[in-house]
Amino acid sequence: MQTNFTLAQLADPDTRESEKILRACVHCGFCTATCPTYALLGDELDSPRGRIYLIKDMLENDRPATTEVVKHIDRCLSCLSCMTTCPSGVNYMHLVDHGRQHIERTFSRPWHDRLLRQLFGYVLPRPRVFHAALRAAQIGKVFAPLLPARLVAALALAPRRLPNSAPLVGPKRFAAEGQRKKRVALLAGCAQQVLAPEINAATIRLLTRHGCEVVIAEGVGCCGSLTHHLGQDATDFARKNIMAWSRELAGGGLDAIAINTSGCGTTIKDYGFIFRDDPVLAEPARKISELARDISEVMAEIGLQKPKIPGGRRVAYHSACSLQHGQRVRQQPKALLAQAGFVVLDPPEGHLCCGSAGTYNILQPEIAGKLRDRKVENIERVAPDIIAAGNIGCITQIASGTSLPVVHTVELLDWATGGPRPSGVADAS
Ligand code: SF4
Ligand code: SF4
Repeated sequence: MQTNFTLAQLADPDTRESEKILRACVHCGFCTATCPTYALLGDELDSPRGRIYLIKDMLENDRPATTEVVKHIDRCLSCLSCMTTCPSGVNYMHLVDHGRQHIERTFSRPWHDRLLRQLFGYVLPRPRVFHAALRAAQIGKVFAPLLPARLVAALALAPRRLPNSAPLVGPKRFAAEGQRKKRVALLAGCAQQVLAPEINAATIRLLTRHGCEVVIAEGVGCCGSLTHHLGQDATDFARKNIMAWSRELAGGGLDAIAINTSGCGTTIKDYGFIFRDDPVLAEPARKISELARDISEVMAEIGLQKPKIPGGRRVAYHSACSLQHGQRVRQQPKALLAQAGFVVLDPPEGHLCCGSAGTYNILQPEIAGKLRDRKVENIERVAPDIIAAGNIGCITQIASGTSLPVVHTVELLDWATGGPRPSGVADAS
């Protein structure tokens, strides 16, 4: 694609990067075929190619974002299915991130929209605040008929029963069982550990049982992914994590940073890019990104112990977009589940997003609801006993549309190798 940036514009590193991305696009339109919003809405401006043109126009002409442009960019799930399909290697992720930052700088959203987005940007990354907000949401459900649609959507996703465990914060250390094979830092996360603390518990049991010493490094918090996708500045979150893990690396050494929320994994693997021009953090950020692994990558490297429960359970594996498109981790989770004795099923349209996408299901409830129903229909078609996914957002979203148990992949791997049965899953015997 031809571009017309001035030299002054190209002096900005983000614009320079976006120009490179734009030039790689040959506007073939292959990406439209696998874009969930284009599949649902059929509008070119709700396709990757359409959005690329909208972003190009804003950046090239230093044009402030308009209501129309914001509508189409906001509808993008950042599922990155277009990146998997694109034959020219267009890095849509970095381009849309830049487009979103431009929108935040140049567009004044209606006050209620601004308030909601700022509220999410503040609450979700802070486990204690998020926990308190969920408690309030349980009361707020009573007032649902009086509230705007997006708040009702947010309330609908709040769990009926809230786990009561204290946030998992560092410094903490969990010793390896038997001879230590690896020393691994676990990202304890933010929203996930409030909604489903059992996922971290299963991950720690699984890793330590397989010879890993697990540490929760002091000072590590939210990865910044949720705020980043809202177009807000998330560099403070990332900076703190890079420094905290760098200290851990220099202290006890680290073989990997294990991440069990694939949305976070995609962002942490991108820290190196985000800080590429930072005179102090460029090198440490690159090292942290290099160490970042999805938990399924860590377990695939170590090798799974023989299963201790009878096999044959039918598991529909939902591949989170951030895992399959963002990190290109596709085979490891399925291979591990199969080694654990489960019959792994691939539902149709596996490339399509479930509609969760960070805060998307709250900010765009209509599109998200349609995508969820389509996802659940596809999953139920393969008649599974259990649904497994590697991302809390997908787990919550899919669970809100089905009566089947939806669990994290690590919970099944933990169960199969000696851990407790995940709640909601019927006995294997
Ligand atoms: S498939 Fe790639 S090259 Fe083709 S229009 Fe989409 S982004 Fe551009
Ligand atoms: S990220 Fe997903 S929703 Fe956005 S343009 Fe690409 S395929 Fe479409």
